[in-house]
Amino acid sequence: MDEVVAGLNDAQRAAVTSDADVLQVLAPPGSGKTKTLTARVAALLARGIKPWSIIVCTFTIKAAMEMSERIEAFVGKEAREKLRIGTFHRIALGYLRRNNEKAGLNSKVGVADMTDSIAILKRIIKENKYDLDPNDTAGKISRQKSKGIELEEYIQSLKKPTEQREFVETWREYQQALITSNLLDFDDILLRCVSLLRAHPDCVAGIDTVLVDEFQDTNGIQYQLMALFAQHANRITIVGDPDQCIYSWRSAEVKNLGMMREKWSSTITINLEENYRSTGAILHVAQQLIEQDEARPPKKLQATHEIGHRPVLRRLPTARDEAEWIATEIKRTQALTADLLEHSDFAILVRSAALSRSVEGALKKHHIPYRMVGGVKFYDRFEIKLILDYLRVINHTSHSEALGRIMNVPPRRIGEKTMDSLRDRAQKENRSLWSLLNKFTIHDSIGGLKVSSAAQNGLKQLVSLIRSCQKQLNSGNATIPELIEFVVKGIDLKTYLKAKYSDTCEGRLGNVDELLAQAAEVSSSFPVAIDEESVLTQESSDVVESPLTAFLADAALASATDVRNAEENVSASLVTISTIHAAKGLEWPAVFVPACYDGSIPHSRSENTDEERRLLYVAMTRAKGLLSLSCPIQDSHQQQTTLSSFISGSDVMECFADRGPNLRFSDVQALSRVIHRECPQERDVWSSSKTLERDQDDYWPTDGSVPEKLGEESGVSSEEYTSGFASVRTQMNSIM
Ligand code: ATP
Ligand code: MG
Repeated sequence: MDEVVAGLNDAQRAAVTSDADVLQVLAPPGSGKTKTLTARVAALLARGIKPWSIIVCTFTIKAAMEMSERIEAFVGKEAREKLRIGTFHRIALGYLRRNNEKAGLNSKVGVADMTDSIAILKRIIKENKYDLDPNDTAGKISRQKSKGIELEEYIQSLKKPTEQREFVETWREYQQALITSNLLDFDDILLRCVSLLRAHPDCVAGIDTVLVDEFQDTNGIQYQLMALFAQHANRITIVGDPDQCIYSWRSAEVKNLGMMREKWSSTITINLEENYRSTGAILHVAQQLIEQDEARPPKKLQATHEIGHRPVLRRLPTARDEAEWIATEIKRTQALTADLLEHSDFAILVRSAALSRSVEGALKKHHIPYRMVGGVKFYDRFEIKLILDYLRVINHTSHSEALGRIMNVPPRRIGEKTMDSLRDRAQKENRSLWSLLNKFTIHDSIGGLKVSSAAQNGLKQLVSLIRSCQKQLNSGNATIPELIEFVVKGIDLKTYLKAKYSDTCEGRLGNVDELLAQAAEVSSSFPVAIDEESVLTQESSDVVESPLTAFLADAALASATDVRNAEENVSASLVTISTIHAAKGLEWPAVFVPACYDGSIPHSRSENTDEERRLLYVAMTRAKGLLSLSCPIQDSHQQQTTLSSFISGSDVMECFADRGPNLRFSDVQALSRVIHRECPQERDVWSSSKTLERDQDDYWPTDGSVPEKLGEESGVSSEEYTSGFASVRTQMNSIM
């Protein structure tokens, strides 16, 4: 036991060893909640509680894995493997599978993802000719279910039984269809488990203690599940922080904390106060930010570390310059700290996944290895790959690989078999797939090979789309972005993505916007000509090196690096690019938060300003020693931005350093202490900063003036750049 509590402070120790049955540990970021929860599991095991009688619920699979590792360090692999640790969904599905008969489920029950759910709903709505939108219907059903409300209960809550008839009927048929296909959707996993544990409490008879991390983000049904897991022994420990609630859009309810205290009146609450993660300067800015929420009960972040280097706020001309700045800052910081920091010590946290594109580009350019968390790498994303494949075929119709991939995407009723036989035939006759497809637009059978009339129509549609794209290009002034837009319209990508990925459709459309912005950067003013002959003969020969060819080559190279990155051994030191949501609970020595402008954070599509502020608070409090916020004067769509209202107020502004991150030796010392690493020698730091100053001045003068080169390249005039920079400085000067 001594080993378990070694190094903990009094409050943490009290939480770890508490005899309380129901315990709430409420504390700000970095105060050791997760550490305490982990130690409490180890302490329970040390007390003789069996590992299989402990359930630990975490918010993400990644968090579950991290916690498993920490627990294993205390109790060893064997005991750790017997613990029930994972997300609510994982644990619930485990119970359903083990008790499938009691749950009334087939032993091979599968999970329906969003695509499946939408497809089922679409079919039902179409068959019945209902006036409903499948995506909205899916969202509406899911919201009810995550509150624990099932269909019958929902019907009873209606004023008149005939009300919302179409919605109710669709929901009913949807549930029936899931049963017929032996599927459970995400919400059903939790709901079915709640019913199972209500009807058969014996399933959890052996459970002694339930522990939940990040409790502030549990929703109604997860709360019910937690109570049911613990229904026999009623021993529950939760840790959480209402200031970090960032999932209310997914029905998370902070009020679960109060409900818990009501249900178990003996609940003991322990507050942890000291922050062990970050330097004082970082905590100060986070505190100033969160205090803007006046409804929040006052609570202080108490630093255990020294002040350290002040956070940096930088305005750059464009999103591209911002990304460039981050990449060079990573290199510069490494040099300035005499390699105290590795790549894996840096994280770039973005409000939405689409913002990562420019950052990825800059890191690639500077050969800085990175990994993406909470999102697929840009060029691996379905919608990006699809558009690029269309462009490949338009550019080069003999690109049979790409043509094969787009033939039935979006669906054109060309079956797998037909596609295979077409590919085979083209290969046998040593001709391009494209020329064969062209023939089938005229004949439905060639040399013994036949296609159905539905497939023939599909092929006609595809061929005519490709041809009209080519004509559009050759007709005059089409640029690459215009071509992309033409393709997006031609295949009605918006509708297709909505149907296929209702949950992530917005983000995916954002990715398409990013691709457009990227194409605009490379596209010059002259039109993108493709080889005239390829249009005439429908068979492309070598295409002239047009901007389109160059653009596609760039994209292919970039995606090849992506693949290399993904396959690189996991132990390689990589910079992390993550969404803020996916960074919850994690920490890094140095954190960048780009795109700090109104519309990005707070996000234009969010109506909950307080939750947006909490998101920025979560982002800031991930940093241990260095925190850099930045904001381009123009976003990637060449729109002028306004510095985020969360940081433009004087309380927050005064927390930033007055110029670039010119680290002093004392800052490097503070940094090395907060990350528990040996500090480099002063002379090493001094000599690296000497070399750097010269290089750096070429590009990023610290006096706020703009180098000519940058002004021209970015399309932002020197005046605009300087005034953007100056406005930040003026605001700072006026308060300092
Ligand atoms: P968040 O709210 O962001 O999830 P948290 O409260 O869960 O934060 P932890 O991740 O548990 O905080 O701890 C933050 C950091 O502080 C970790 O690096 C942890 O090892 C360290 N830490 C926590 N308690 C102590 C302590 N008593 N002594 C030294 N370091 C500590
Ligand atoms: Mg935590």
